[in-house]
Amino acid sequence: MKLRKVTAATAVVLALATAATACGSGSKSGGSSSGDGKTIKIGIKFDQPGLGLKKPDGSFSGFDVDVATYVAKQLGYKPDQIEWVETKSADRENALARGDVKFIAATYSINDKRKKKVDFAGPYLLAHQDLLVKANADISKATDLNGRKLCSVTGSTSAQNVHDTIAPKAQLREYSGYSECIAGLQSGAVDAVTTDDSILAGFAAQDKYKGQFKLAGLKLSNENYGIGVKKGDTATMDKINAALQKMVADGSWKAAVEKNFGPANYKNEPAPKIGQIVK
Ligand code: GLU
Repeated sequence: MKLRKVTAATAVVLALATAATACGSGSKSGGSSSGDGKTIKIGIKFDQPGLGLKKPDGSFSGFDVDVATYVAKQLGYKPDQIEWVETKSADRENALARGDVKFIAATYSINDKRKKKVDFAGPYLLAHQDLLVKANADISKATDLNGRKLCSVTGSTSAQNVHDTIAPKAQLREYSGYSECIAGLQSGAVDAVTTDDSILAGFAAQDKYKGQFKLAGLKLSNENYGIGVKKGDTATMDKINAALQKMVADGSWKAAVEKNFGPANYKNEPAPKIGQIVK
């Protein structure tokens, strides 16, 4: 008797669950307010405050997020149709080649090596490589890094530049994300973190780090941020270039800069011209 009751209850639960699933998928394929339930996958960083950040409540913020949201709208996707995918520095070329994402807006510098594997729209921001050190540190120029522990990220131009020119005699530690480098700087595991000033300013302005770090203020490189697309996808690249041009022309670019870089007191360069790389 008891057993039969449980079985009946289970059957009801199963029936309800099945109905709910059917209902859910039905509305996705045809009933959503946007019409066809289509989505777009976009690659961003998840751990870079002011640029690409996944917040504790699951929402996303930052300049790259705002640029990507604007671009997606021009491609016909509303914000709720965007699926954000984390693309770490070392994963970006592969993520595009595999088709994991339609495009990447992730502090992604345009350079010749990467252009062999992916195509870029833009540039949409010019940043410069810099150093972040403890507020009381005696590091103010690249040669001060000789023999010191320096942190950057695998697959970044920042790490490459350290090897090639900036500080070949530093002990470079390569982590998978900048947030790990910053934790290392705070704990004393490393003496400095190097990457784009736009990224470093965002970390330094975080409440939990306020007053602890300083930027050296060195313009060690030119980092022209582009939006990466799959190699050969010129149709998407052209549409993104048109969207970026529109974003600057209608004032949305400036608004996004002020909203995202203002709190970090980051003095950004003027909007770049599409197709013009600053060497
Ligand atoms: N912009 C540089 C790069 O594309 C450094 C920042 C990053 O790793 O995303 O490598």
